[in-house]
Amino acid sequence: MSKKHIKQSQRQLKKAGFYFGAIDGDWGALSVKATKKAIESNAVKLKDESGSSKGLTERDKKRLAGVHKDLQRLVKHVKKTSDVDFFVGEGRRTTKRQKQLIKQAKSTTMNSRHLTGHAVDLIVRVDGKVTWKLKHYRQLAKDMKKSAKKLGIPITWGGDWKTFKDGVHFQLSWGSYSKYT
Ligand SMILES: [Zn+2]
Repeated sequence: MSKKHIKQSQRQLKKAGFYFGAIDGDWGALSVKATKKAIESNAVKLKDESGSSKGLTERDKKRLAGVHKDLQRLVKHVKKTSDVDFFVGEGRRTTKRQKQLIKQAKSTTMNSRHLTGHAVDLIVRVDGKVTWKLKHYRQLAKDMKKSAKKLGIPITWGGDWKTFKDGVHFQLSWGSYSKYT
């Protein structure tokens, strides 16, 4: 590598927060260490993005923050037992975001269970690609209901709604969980 190229790499590593040495064009121990850190960090990120069908990814866990503990437990269980490839799209929602969604006609109610952390949207992938087709959500719904029964956590699937079919949507049932439970 030429001095110019080394400087360029050092600058990039510094910008990304991996390198704290001087931009001197000298490929020393600090530069080597920084490169190693950058590669590791990228590997972690890639693993997180692709995910595995078994177990929640870091991104899933982040998106489940603020969601009711029972619903978190259920999603975790299904992630482990189901063969459907899915990830958490959204969990708890702010009032501001809910108002935006209504404006965009993506939601119909300010009574959404997302606002209180009683709902999650789970996105299905087929051959690694996101799908919105309801038929692909039926198996996930089946697995969700099976685990829900096993864990004693009553849920409702948005795909069962008559007027506004919402295949990605799963919520704790109103009958068993009020806004405050
Ligand atoms: Zn939803």
